[in-house]
Amino acid sequence: MSEFIELMVCEVCIHLLANGEYVDGTDAADKAGQGMAKRWQGYHLIPGSDDFGYCMSSCEGCGSSEHGNRFRAFADKF
Ligand SMILES: [Zn+2]
Repeated sequence: MSEFIELMVCEVCIHLLANGEYVDGTDAADKAGQGMAKRWQGYHLIPGSDDFGYCMSSCEGCGSSEHGNRFRAFADKF
């Protein structure tokens, strides 16, 4: 049975999931990509469409604790 988990992810994560890249001139995309790969091994992460606005919770995708806008994503177990 597939397990479908709702996540709130940061702006970097949602860009990576939706577009496959995030370019801001820093290593933010690398860090987020590595964070997601590590935390969500064995899952497909799928971008959603909800925008939660500014949140102070950690990103559930990459684990970043930086405050910022959060967006809906889903984790689907292979
Ligand atoms: Zn993130």
